[in-house]
Amino acid sequence: MDLEPVKLQYATSRESTDIVHLEKSYGLFIDGKMVEPRSGAMFTSVNPATEEPLTQVAEAGSDDVDLAVAAARRAYEHGWRDLPGKERAKYVFRIARLLQERAREFAVLETIDGGKPIKESRDVDIPLAAAHFFYYAGWADKLGYAFPGRRPKPIGVAGQIIPWNFPLLMAAWKLAPALASGNTVVLKPAETTPLTALLLTEVLRDADLPPGVVNVLTGDGVAGAALVNHPGVDKIAFTGSTDVGKEIQRALAGTGKRLTLELGGKAANIVFEDAALDQAVEGVVNGIFFNQGHVCCAGSRLLLQEPIAEAFLDKLRSRMATLRVGDPLDKNTDVGAINSRQQLDKISSLVDAGVEEGAEMYQAPCPLPERGFWFRPTILTGVTPAHRVAQEEIFGPVLSVLTFRTPEEAVAKANNTRYGLSAGVWTEKGSKILWMADRLRAGVVWENTFNRFDPASPFGGFRESGFGREGGVQGLAPYLALEAIDA
Ligand code: NAD
Repeated sequence: MDLEPVKLQYATSRESTDIVHLEKSYGLFIDGKMVEPRSGAMFTSVNPATEEPLTQVAEAGSDDVDLAVAAARRAYEHGWRDLPGKERAKYVFRIARLLQERAREFAVLETIDGGKPIKESRDVDIPLAAAHFFYYAGWADKLGYAFPGRRPKPIGVAGQIIPWNFPLLMAAWKLAPALASGNTVVLKPAETTPLTALLLTEVLRDADLPPGVVNVLTGDGVAGAALVNHPGVDKIAFTGSTDVGKEIQRALAGTGKRLTLELGGKAANIVFEDAALDQAVEGVVNGIFFNQGHVCCAGSRLLLQEPIAEAFLDKLRSRMATLRVGDPLDKNTDVGAINSRQQLDKISSLVDAGVEEGAEMYQAPCPLPERGFWFRPTILTGVTPAHRVAQEEIFGPVLSVLTFRTPEEAVAKANNTRYGLSAGVWTEKGSKILWMADRLRAGVVWENTFNRFDPASPFGGFRESGFGREGGVQGLAPYLALEAIDA
């Protein structure tokens, strides 16, 4: 007797937002206090899943940047710089503990401000942010052992500018090593996702962090540029687009300021014919649809070895048909809202360009909510290396598929990009993985997995993906002057 396959559905399981308390408006966090912006300007933060305004946030201007940098300088010179490492460690550790205690609140706020699924903010963003503070708390009193033969000293005031795709996590990547190594900070969150950085200021206060050690300036690129160009800043750490990164590098040339850039990517996820295909399908789905593809290291180019290409695409399309797209607060949601209308327009226009250039489009057949910013999980097949969708970062849930015959061709195609942030290799042969990893020009090469992060592991790019590393002992170096001990 033939049995009909049973189609199981998930009942909605919506996370409550009661835990989040939003003020009507927020000022800037300068010298340990929330203050009105000198600029007098405010902007609205919007929930991208509903298009509803959430709250008003201050838009910092250059006078505000002056005040924040002055507060950071005072805090640096009058205490923080000279605090013993084991004392600094206590503050950083406390921040980690407080983040854990308020993890649910941070997760819900991250989801309503940015559109990412609650299961990701709850299970990835917030735990990893806390893990970074824990990890660097451990280094604060051991800096002398981190760089043998060198005497590490903090460098001063760091200006840190972050993007909207992992708002709290990017703040943690930047703040934790800077604080552990004795620097003070002016942090500028992205304009569409300022709210978890503002909530973090409560944690900083509860951790008794001395005033001025961390200052948070919300605002747009104008505030970012004022911070970059401020003469009182000793180091800039920037995560964002390659275009803005280049602008910053040009602005800082010859100033003597330290700079690290974490920029865009166009990673190749390479599947060989001997790979465990079902496992690889999961890795490819995670690689491109995690966080709606708003991931700098997303596996946005899929390279399939020819003999398995058709079978793999069949499996991938069936898997995509099961993705649940919609309300980010539903715990079953796999793909949430696109972060802003501007980003949605960018994704749509690049996909249109791909189709015009001859790519064939498949989109997951999922219903989309009526309001908010949404884009169906999409794959483009028949893509050639010259197509825009094979070269430009789409930063959305869109996968460009290419094929290859030999490992040499896979390497050549994977490296045929101006970026160099990450790559993935799927094969059952360890020797092939090592052979590939030697030749792929990417900061991270994942083998039989993708999008794995750990605070102890350095992350960063080559070429137009930027320079400098975050995470691990390597992530401390940009925040330290390393004098030779016998100098
Ligand atoms: P973006 O460059 O537009 O903005 C990033 C930040 O820079 C924001 O805070 C913005 O306000 C600020 N900014 C804008 N113009 C500026 C200027 N002239 N001077 C100083 N600051 C300025 O990037 P985005 O759209 O927010 O973020 C997406 C980009 O970030 C993608 O390209 C992505 O790949 C990249 N990214 C990289 C990493 C990494 O670790 N390599 C991680 C996350 C995101």
